[in-house]
Parts: sequence; structure tokens; C-alpha cells
Amino acid sequence: MSENIEPLRGMNDVLPAEAHWWNRLESVAREVFSTYGYREIRVPLLERTQLFKRAIGEHTDIVEKEMFSFEDRDGQSLSLRPEATASIVRAAISNGLLHNQKHRLFTIGPMFRGERPQKGRYRQFYQIDAEAFGYAGPEVDAELILLTARMWRLLGISRVHLEINSLGTAEARARYREVLREYFQARFDQLDADSQRRLQGNPLRILDSKNADMAALIAGAPSLADHLDEESRIHFERLKSLLDAADVPYTVNPRLVRGLDYYSRTVFEWVTDALGSQNAVCSGGRYDGLVTQLGGEATPAIGWAMGMERAVLLMQELGCEAPVETPDVYFVMAGDQALARGLQLAEQVRSAVPNLKIETDLSGGSFKAQFKRADKSGAQLAVVLGDDEVVRGEASVKPLRGGEQKAVSFDALAAHLEALIQG
Ligand code: ATP
Ligand code: MG
Repeated sequence: MSENIEPLRGMNDVLPAEAHWWNRLESVAREVFSTYGYREIRVPLLERTQLFKRAIGEHTDIVEKEMFSFEDRDGQSLSLRPEATASIVRAAISNGLLHNQKHRLFTIGPMFRGERPQKGRYRQFYQIDAEAFGYAGPEVDAELILLTARMWRLLGISRVHLEINSLGTAEARARYREVLREYFQARFDQLDADSQRRLQGNPLRILDSKNADMAALIAGAPSLADHLDEESRIHFERLKSLLDAADVPYTVNPRLVRGLDYYSRTVFEWVTDALGSQNAVCSGGRYDGLVTQLGGEATPAIGWAMGMERAVLLMQELGCEAPVETPDVYFVMAGDQALARGLQLAEQVRSAVPNLKIETDLSGGSFKAQFKRADKSGAQLAVVLGDDEVVRGEASVKPLRGGEQKAVSFDALAAHLEALIQG
């Protein structure tokens, strides 16, 4: 294979043999969103680079080094979206959705980050993303978490654990940032290069470091919990009691700061011990300041994003169920006349029994070869048609998993198949 036909690094094809995992995840997500009143929004993959710089923050890994950015023909800098929240907030503002309104929204689609590819970490990856606008209280924080817990249950995903933290208001965090800056400044030589750089821009980012050599230093740093403002503390206490009441176990992780700058108050992450170092399956938090920061009316907001590749890996790892599509009926047709008549019959049956899944062979090959494929397809029944049958106006219906073959007139075929499949 010539080199330029390979996919780009970190970009994957989801092949038909794997698609059922994705379909299962997505259909459960859609089902759960609909039972909680979340409505779908679809936003562009491309936005002005400036949007992400303003929303996510200049000193984040994403903006500093991970975005796929380029200039368009007019010299304007555009970027493939690295996440959905900024785009959804942009869409809510530019479509006037936020004036005296509340919205519960979700979107599903690809995101792009130029990271070093590893298992569970790719350059194009998919997220299921939920956002709620206009709700200030901790109840919506709890509900969004309960919604994800329900998705895990329905999918059969275990081995995920909830970590929560509160970042406080922007003011409380600004004060904490200074305390943190002093702490790390005094230990400047122990910082890795990334952290030294972050110290000036945003020392909070240091807490998010994935470098194991930094762990001890980070563990000794002053805790955000000691610098929380009173209102955020009350908000956080109430969230915890709502989660307790709903029987959702969690751990308070005071080092959980998240990799994006826009969060305030509640942040949370569902982590797993089943996927190695890519342990975050779903992460999110409150971002009460972001809408005004992007030029909209002050609107409290909270959201999360689930990494679909990681959720699929978990489902596979844990042996969760994900039904594979198989046809109910396989049409075997030999001879020109049979092929033409069979095609017509299949249409007739599809119209009469809309749920029935019919696969037609269409190869024009030998009966033997077609039966092999019929078996492999997983279908329960074969409808067999040769030129002789066409003359007689009937088809043979053959159970592929044992049972008697039977001749059925064309007129009776749809009802006969329906009775066999549904019975
Ligand atoms: P991580 O700490 O693993 O880098 P993150 O904090 O950057 O995650 P978010 O930006 O909050 O992640 O994105 C939400 C979710 O999207 C993550 O919990 C993860 O499941 C998934 N995710 C993030 N980056 C990637 C990636 N490069 N490839 C696959 N999934 C990803
Ligand atoms: Mg990341």
C-alpha cells in the first residue's frame, strides 16, 4: 500500500465490525437524554481560532499546542473544534437562545486535538456532550451526574468512579492562584519545563500535570478547599447531599482542576481503573462566567463530555452487550429471472413488514456459494428462488437454523415470513 493512503496519525476508521459498539453507546445516550428533556444541537466543526482562545484559555495545553489551526483564503485563523462547549455557547449567543430561557442540550460528534496518540487518546475523537444553561443551583449539577450514572447502568459499564471538587468563584480562584504561585515559585527548580511555563500564565494548570515526577510536589501544595468562598462551599455541600440521597458514591478530589480555564464551582470526572493511563471517561463542570466572557448575557451553565472511544473500550473490556445487526431473512436467487423477481419480492415484503431486515444476495453465483453467505449472515430464514420457482409463482422458505423447508406462494410470502420471524 502506498504511504499516502494511510490514515493520518491519531485518526481512526470505525469499521463495520466495530460499529455496533458505537451504535449501542449512542442509542443509549440518546434515549437517556430524551428521558431527561435534553434536546440535540448540532454545531459546526470549524470556528474562529479566537473563540477557543477566549473560551478555553491561552495557557491551556489545548490552546497552546493541540489545536488544528490554519488560515483560510482571507487570512482568517480557523480551528477544528477541540471540544464542543465553546461552540455551543457561541451558538446559544449568536442565535439568541439565552434571553430569559433555560436550555438542556446535547451534541454528539468528533473533536480534534493534536496530542500524542496512545490507547484511548487520539487526534480525532468523539464526544457525547451535554450542557445546561440557565440553572444556577446545584440540583442541575446533581441531575447531570445522575444522568451519566444512568447511562453507565444501562450500558452495563461498571468500574467507573466519580470524583468531584469545587473550584469556587473566579475571585476565590484568583486568590488561590496567588497562594499556589508562591508555593511553586519557592520550589521553582523542582518544576518540570511545562510547569515552569505555567507558573506565570496559570499555576492552577500545574495541578493538572500528568508527569509522575511532579506528583509529590503537587500533593504538598496548598489545597483549594481551604480557599473556597462561602457560597461555593454551600453549593458544594448541597451537591454532595443530593448525590448521597441518590446513592451515587463519589470521592472529593481536591486536586481535580480540569484542563480548561472556564470552570467555576463544581467540577467532576468519571474515572476508571480499566483503561490504563487514559482514565477519564467523562468530565465536566460548571462554567458560570463563560457566557459573559464570550459576550452573552450572564447565564449560569454546566456541562460534561464523555470520550466515546474510551467508553467503547470500556464496554469491550467489560464485556458489555452491544447487539450486532443481522438480517432476519436472506434472499438466495439463481438465474436472471429469479434475480429480477426476487428483487421485486423483497421490496414487496419490506413494504408489507416494515421492521423485517432483508438482505439480498445479488451475486448471481451458485446456490451453494449463496447459501454459504446466507449462513454467515446470521439470518434465520432463507428465501430461495430459482427460475423454476418463478414460473410456479412461489418461493422456498428455508429455516437456516434447523426446520423444514416450505414452498410459499408469492402472495403469501410477506405474511408467512412475518409469522415465522415474530413468532
Ligand atoms: P485527559 O485528562 O485524558 O487529557 P481532558 O481533561 O483533556 O482528558 P476533556 O477536555 O474534559 O478531557 O474531554 C472530555 C472527555 O473526552 C475526557 O474525559 C476523555 O474521555 C475524552 N478525551 C479527551 N481528550 C481525548 C483524546 N485526545 N482522545 C480520546 N478521548 C479524549
Ligand atoms: Mg487532555
